[in-house]
Amino acid sequence: MDTIFIAGTWRPADDSGTRTIRCPADGREVATVAEGTAADARAAVAAARSAFDDGPWPHTPTADRADLLRRLADRLEAEKDHVAELESLDTGKRFVEAQIDMDDIISVFRHFADLAANDAGRVVDTGVPEVRSRVVHEPVGVCTLITPWNFPLLQTAWKVAPCLAAGNTFVLKPSELTPSTCIWLLRTLADLGLPDGVGNLVLGTGAEVGAALVEDPAVDLVSFTGGLHTGRVIMASAAATVKKVALELGGKNPNVIFADADLPAAIDNALTAVFLDSGQVCSAGTRLIVESSIHDRVVDELVERARGIRLGAPFDDQAEAGPLISAEHRDKVAQYVADAVEDGADLRCGGGPPEGAEYDDGFYYLPTILDHCAADMRCVQEESFGPVLTVETFEGADGDRAEEAAVSLANDTIYGLAGAVWTENAGRAERVAARMRHGTIWINDFHPYVAGAEWGGFKQSGVGRELGVAGLEEYRETKHVWHNTRPAPADWFVDRRGGAR
Ligand code: NAD
Repeated sequence: MDTIFIAGTWRPADDSGTRTIRCPADGREVATVAEGTAADARAAVAAARSAFDDGPWPHTPTADRADLLRRLADRLEAEKDHVAELESLDTGKRFVEAQIDMDDIISVFRHFADLAANDAGRVVDTGVPEVRSRVVHEPVGVCTLITPWNFPLLQTAWKVAPCLAAGNTFVLKPSELTPSTCIWLLRTLADLGLPDGVGNLVLGTGAEVGAALVEDPAVDLVSFTGGLHTGRVIMASAAATVKKVALELGGKNPNVIFADADLPAAIDNALTAVFLDSGQVCSAGTRLIVESSIHDRVVDELVERARGIRLGAPFDDQAEAGPLISAEHRDKVAQYVADAVEDGADLRCGGGPPEGAEYDDGFYYLPTILDHCAADMRCVQEESFGPVLTVETFEGADGDRAEEAAVSLANDTIYGLAGAVWTENAGRAERVAARMRHGTIWINDFHPYVAGAEWGGFKQSGVGRELGVAGLEEYRETKHVWHNTRPAPADWFVDRRGGAR
């Protein structure tokens, strides 16, 4: 299986290991791919190092690098349905969702092409007429890019686009569960003329390939998207050689609804906030924080509608949500729900797999709502990464105190990725949004993002930002060049007894 790409050549794993990829919706075999080793990882880093140190890419004009990214976006637009199908088969997500992901990815490549092409550094006034001082950007070097399974190509695009735009070389390691669209990406980049060694792909597990890619002293930057535990391991490992580290980790994202919100919109969006992609979204609105006076109305309607959500396979037109990624993941979600009930949460709906022969071969789990939760429960504090909504309430008798109580619950988490506030009171919306310690805040909305705006986490949701302008900065070193056009002796160490030494 020649699905490892190193120095412009497709090859099998160093030890000929393979892995079979199966669709989580029905267990069908999707692909057999190489399962790489630490030796493959080291070979890929060596190729990326040599392409950076001796190859043309870091010195290629930015306009040409941007042009390649634009042609990549065009190619994806032309092959959108094919790539979305690959993504759906690997992840089990609905085909329409994968198609939307492709549109986002196209916009990400175009965004970074535009951004890189329009930035030539800046001139600084030193106050010394003879000196020309300028600040320029240079690529960081060799980048290890490690991505998760929930948005395989999207999370990869957030890294590959700025990485290439800035002139770096990279080794990509996607999740071992969902490699297909990353294979498409590397094939397409090579086809579009990316020089050998600039982009390398090593498939395999995190423990074997991922760890080797993080440890390797020839790597300058590690950009990782995935779980908190893995992020901590990576940060510690990267510290040994003081690599630059960018981390996009998990979230336990609050969705705050005040009694003065547009309730039909708030309730409808609360459903998509948590149950989109069966909750396997880092920014999923898994914590509903609702004013007590509207608790019953909001939760009763959510329960009724959650019971009606149709689960199904990627190409089932009637399906509204798909399966979880694996049997292990479904077990983990089930354990969180069982523990929550044990801790005193009120299981209002879901809490197990759906019934029906059509679900037997997939890893489905019903949309689940846990009412009357307390902030210290495990289900409220830890990321289950499944279709599980917890409900907490705050009192609203006094306006200021209601805001205080809502903000306090919304911030009561080690995470800080995203959150939302629903109210028709614009002043309240701004006050609450300003105090929520999360990297993205939606006011009267949930989920949308644009490539031009930064994405990332406060607190333990991560380090650094992707997208926007900062998403390019991650991949650039900043260099100050001081040019004295009239060199002269410094005259500092002079012979005080007369004359220079
Ligand atoms: P994960 O941490 O298990 O794996 C992510 C990637 O890291 C995979 O490629 C895996 O093989 C690799 N990996 C695992 N152990 C490693 C190690 N020791 N060294 C190097 N690499 C290693 O996460 P997952 O289950 O694939 O993805 C789900 C998680 O990703 C969730 O926590 C979710 O919140 C998070 N996520 C965050 C964002 C964001 O933007 N903040 C986006 C998507 C997903």
